Amino acid sequence: MKTMRVAQIPAPKGKFEIVEQPIPEPMPGTVRIKVAACGVCHSDALVKEGLWPGIQYPRVPGHEVAGTIDAVGEGVTRWKVGQRVGVGWNGGYCGRCDNCRRGNMFACETHQMTGISFDGGYGEYMIAPVSAVARFPDELSPVDAAPLLCAGITTFNALRNSAARPGDVVAVLGLGGLGHLGVQYAAKMGFKVVGIARGKDKEPLARQLGASIYIDSQAQDPAAELQKLGGASVVIATVTAGAAMSAVVGGLAANGTLLVIGAPESLQLSPGALIGGQLAVKGWYSGMSIDSEDTLAFSARTGVQSMNETFPFERVNEAYERMMSGKARFRVVLTMK
Ligand SMILES: [Zn+2]
Ligand SMILES: [Zn+2]
Repeated sequence: MKTMRVAQIPAPKGKFEIVEQPIPEPMPGTVRIKVAACGVCHSDALVKEGLWPGIQYPRVPGHEVAGTIDAVGEGVTRWKVGQRVGVGWNGGYCGRCDNCRRGNMFACETHQMTGISFDGGYGEYMIAPVSAVARFPDELSPVDAAPLLCAGITTFNALRNSAARPGDVVAVLGLGGLGHLGVQYAAKMGFKVVGIARGKDKEPLARQLGASIYIDSQAQDPAAELQKLGGASVVIATVTAGAAMSAVVGGLAANGTLLVIGAPESLQLSPGALIGGQLAVKGWYSGMSIDSEDTLAFSARTGVQSMNETFPFERVNEAYERMMSGKARFRVVLTMK
C-alpha cells in the first residue's frame, strides 16, 4: 500500500507530528490533491490549540492548499487528473439546506471547513469535496497561490463586494498578512488607498504596495487624517486590536463602512457616530471556491503577490511558531518535495 506523510495535531495543544498514513482513495464527489504548497494561517491555531468545538483529533490542518488533482472520485465530471487546483477555508457546501438554496453557500448548515471538518493541506495528499476546489492559473506558482486562498480571497472578496467605487478613498488598517494584500488589491481596483499602521517605518512598504497616503497611527489621529481626505468610503480593518478599529470609525465618510476581517475579542463603537453618519459595520467571510478562482485570476493578471517566508514541510513546528510570533513578513508557506 502506498503511503504519504502528513503533519497532524494528535490532541488539542499538542505539537505537530509527522506520520505515515495510507494515501486515501477519493470518495464519490471528491478529488484527491497532491499538495505542492500550503499556507500557515493564524486560524490554524483553532486546530492546534483546540479552540473550535467539535474538532476530531488527530487532525491535519491547512486551508491554503495549492496542488494538482491526482485522482477523482465517482461522479466527478468537471475535474481532471493533472489539473492545478487550490482549496481554501470553505470546505464545500451541501447545496440542499435553506442557506444554500438561497445562494448563501458560505453559511451552509454543514459548516465544512478545510483542515477543521476534514484533514487539510499539511500533508503530501488531501481529499477535498469538489465544491471546495478552485482552478488556478499557470502564471502562479503553488507558493504564490497558497496564501491567496485565505488571506488573498478574504481581502479581495471583501473589497469587491463593498460599497466603495473606483476613485473612492479606501483605507486599509494594518499592514500584516491580510493588510499587505489588502493595499495591493485596493490599489489595483482603482481606489485611492490609504495605508494605516503603527510607526513611520511601514510607510515605504505601504507606498510600494500601492498606497497613495500613509497614516502612522502612533503619531497621527487616523480619524482626523481620513477626514482631511473627505472621509473613507470603506475602512477594511485587518488588525486584531479592537481599540485600533474603534479609532478609525470617525474617519469614515457619510454612509461609510467599517469592513471587519480581523478578529479582536470585542469591538467598542459609538452608536451616536453610527447614527449621525449612517455608518455600517460589516464582517466578511472569505468566500467560495469560485471566489478563490477570481482572486487567483485577478492576482495573476494585475501582479498582486503575497510576500512569503517558505519552510519545507518537515519544519512544520518551526513554521507554525514563526507565523504565531507575528514576525513573519508576511505569510508563512509550507512546501512539499
Ligand atoms: Zn486562514
Ligand atoms: Zn448547505
